[in-house]
Amino acid sequence: MKKTALITGILGQDGPYLAKLLLEKDYKVYGLIRRYSNPNFENLEFLGISDRIEYVSGDMTDEASLINIIKLTQPTEVYNLAAQSFVGSSWDQSKLTTEVNSLGVLYILNAIKLFSPLTKFYQASTSEMFGNSSNEGIQTEETSFHPRSPYAIAKLYAYWMTINFKESYGLFCANGILFNHESPIRGKEFVTRKISDGVAKIKLGLSDKIRLGNIDSKRDWGFAGNYVEAMWLMLQQEKADNYIVSTGESHSIKNFLEIAFDHVGISDWEKHVTIDPNFKRPAELHVLQGKSDKAKNVLKWIPKVKFEELVKMMVDADLQRLR
Ligand code: NDP
Ligand code: GDP
Repeated sequence: MKKTALITGILGQDGPYLAKLLLEKDYKVYGLIRRYSNPNFENLEFLGISDRIEYVSGDMTDEASLINIIKLTQPTEVYNLAAQSFVGSSWDQSKLTTEVNSLGVLYILNAIKLFSPLTKFYQASTSEMFGNSSNEGIQTEETSFHPRSPYAIAKLYAYWMTINFKESYGLFCANGILFNHESPIRGKEFVTRKISDGVAKIKLGLSDKIRLGNIDSKRDWGFAGNYVEAMWLMLQQEKADNYIVSTGESHSIKNFLEIAFDHVGISDWEKHVTIDPNFKRPAELHVLQGKSDKAKNVLKWIPKVKFEELVKMMVDADLQRLR
């Protein structure tokens, strides 16, 4: 029988890459979308798959809609990627962030428990849950959590609820603890895409400056197209478990800027960057660097795209779009 998957967050960054992967594996893919007067299918179109998804209408904050969708689709696998995913906005919209990122996950888990208990569930957990706590500077699955934003706190609730449904009801529920992952279809408010778009505009004479906040923080940045493979692998195991997905390398935003500007032949990047306190956060997370040995050993997953390659890929894609 053909496998079926429901992807929430299908219009975001990871949803389209995951959908493409599943379509290549001959899945029928349902994508949950919110009701819009004018929905944006740009990311799915970028990957050429917008007409190959079966769209279902619902919202993570509307429990009945999720129940109906699970009842109707009875998917083999659910990938819960929907979220208010921007850390920066989570201080201003903490209630909404909690409703979508915490309660929404509870609703969908309950719907699976009641109406489709054989469905395997993937929860998009995040390295943000670690905060600044780390084990010798690198985070593993054993590192303690100390979330430092409403986003991370809401995601930690969902992480534990996912584990609780596995332990309480025997459902197949896995958490992917993914470190930052980027691509040409990353949202423009995230720092990597803001820089790649800004650099492309400066190169083409459409702009002169990029306004940024704290450029000293470091992240473990990988390529989204590669990270969705790990999501799928987690649901193909005999037992559900939690896995870190990361590259193991950490780079500062300054490093990202240097490579991005250098790639378009601009060496004096400092001239084009203005530090704007409006983009600084009430609580910062200084360094994220993840050890993905468990994913490597159990899932046979490895990071495939190096940092420099990722930066150049993003800048090139923005140059092409703007041209
Ligand atoms: P995006 O922000 O690109 O996509 C999030 C999606 O969630 C959007 O399609 C959005 O829909 C949807 N969504 C938001 N609110 C609701 C709602 N109330 N009901 C239904 N759908 C909703 O995120 P990414 O693709 O980058 O990330 C995927 C998941 O992985 C997220 O949960 C994120 O928190 C998590 N994650 C991401 C990391 C990263 O580096 N990218 C790192 C670790 C975890 P719409 O298009 O309608 O706005
Ligand atoms: P996050 O790791 O999920 O918060 O991903 P972001 O891309 O939003 O931010 C990564 C890091 O870049 C954080 O330490 C931010 O404080 C820092 N940063 C610096 N300037 C900016 C900016 O202008 N926008 C964003 N989004 N982040 C910035």
